[in-house]
Amino acid sequence: MTDRKAQLAENLARVEERIASACSAAGRSREEVTLIVVTKTYPASDVRLLAELGVRHVAENRDQEAAAKAAECAGLPLRWHFVGQLQTNKVRSVASYADMVQSVDRTKLVGALSAAAVRSGRDVGCLVQVALDAESGGTGGRGGVAPDGVPELAGAIAAAEGLRLGGVMTVAPLSGPYAGRQRAAFERLMEISSSMRSKHPAANMVSAGMSSDLEDAVAAGATHVRVGTAVLGVRPRLR
Ligand SMILES: *Cc1c(COP(=O)(O)O)cnc(C)c1O
Repeated sequence: MTDRKAQLAENLARVEERIASACSAAGRSREEVTLIVVTKTYPASDVRLLAELGVRHVAENRDQEAAAKAAECAGLPLRWHFVGQLQTNKVRSVASYADMVQSVDRTKLVGALSAAAVRSGRDVGCLVQVALDAESGGTGGRGGVAPDGVPELAGAIAAAEGLRLGGVMTVAPLSGPYAGRQRAAFERLMEISSSMRSKHPAANMVSAGMSSDLEDAVAAGATHVRVGTAVLGVRPRLR
């Protein structure tokens, strides 16, 4: 094994242990939680090593970087998640490689994603990104729609050709009533998920939790955690 592969293997093992003990503490089965490794700023060679180590889900937040990496990693058994703020002019590109767009936060994106999915003959999963720091009717500082905008957006996705409504995603807010209260934030997300599922029973994905707060997310009921730093190392700079 190369040094880098050994390092990634060790980091993955540590993250796996954290997820497993969070599941056991919450009385949940380990199979209920899927690890998505966020590979932004790290090279395609790392993505390849991760695939060799058994990782099956990776996430990126910038189209230009993601498109190049996905192309370099074509043929690997990976599912690509897009988790960044998305501009409509990037939608065609993103829909060509992303299996799941986790950051859908406005209806304008739904129309664009649907057209792009149909054009590329792909089925694209979509999560509604919820901003727990947004005022009613607004959007969050890190993207996302305010909780009261979720039903309308979910309905638009569910009705759109080429798109599949998967559930909800959030990033723990840095400001507002949930700042510093990850567990409470993720529990609020679970309530939003439950009400979405009452109308869209198949939309059962709950994507929450990162390197610093994955335990809170698993405790609250997340089905997917998105972990970057704890697997790949501290990124050279924030994006
Ligand atoms: C970067 C990123 C992550 C991973 O964050 P870490 O703290 O490095 O684990 C998760 N979700 C989103 C949306 C991100 O942009």
